[in-house]
Amino acid sequence: MRLIDADELKKRAVKVCFPNAPECGEFDAVVIYEIDIMPTIDPESLRPTAHWISDSAGSTNVVCSACNAISFAAYNFCPECGKRMVSADDCWISVKYRLPKQQTEVLAFRRGIMYLAWYDNEIGRWASNEWGLLDAVTHWMPLPKPPEVTQ
Ligand SMILES: [Zn+2]
Repeated sequence: MRLIDADELKKRAVKVCFPNAPECGEFDAVVIYEIDIMPTIDPESLRPTAHWISDSAGSTNVVCSACNAISFAAYNFCPECGKRMVSADDCWISVKYRLPKQQTEVLAFRRGIMYLAWYDNEIGRWASNEWGLLDAVTHWMPLPKPPEVTQ
């Protein structure tokens, strides 16, 4: 069995009708070849994700960001809720849980929009070069590493 993206396949559908049975009307069809060339989807990529949080007590235990289950090892999957564990760098972090390092630019999320911003510890507020002070920031994530450019 092979998982494919049905939405992508639908874009390749063509309108057809039977000339000998026009009463059937037009309908959408795809060619078998189109199914064969659709990229395969890794089923694991569909599994919901979470990340391990180091236990603040200084132990080697980790805590699941989704279900708060405590684990003795950072498995690839949470034994409790089954989520696929990814790097915390790839996840949105709730401001209720943790704030970024002082004056470090991050991606901040508020009211459905992402901003380049940082948290100013001195005034206790989010700020952006472009937009000034930002209220209602709910999540943030570290910026991706820049590309390696050779000149
Ligand atoms: Zn979990």
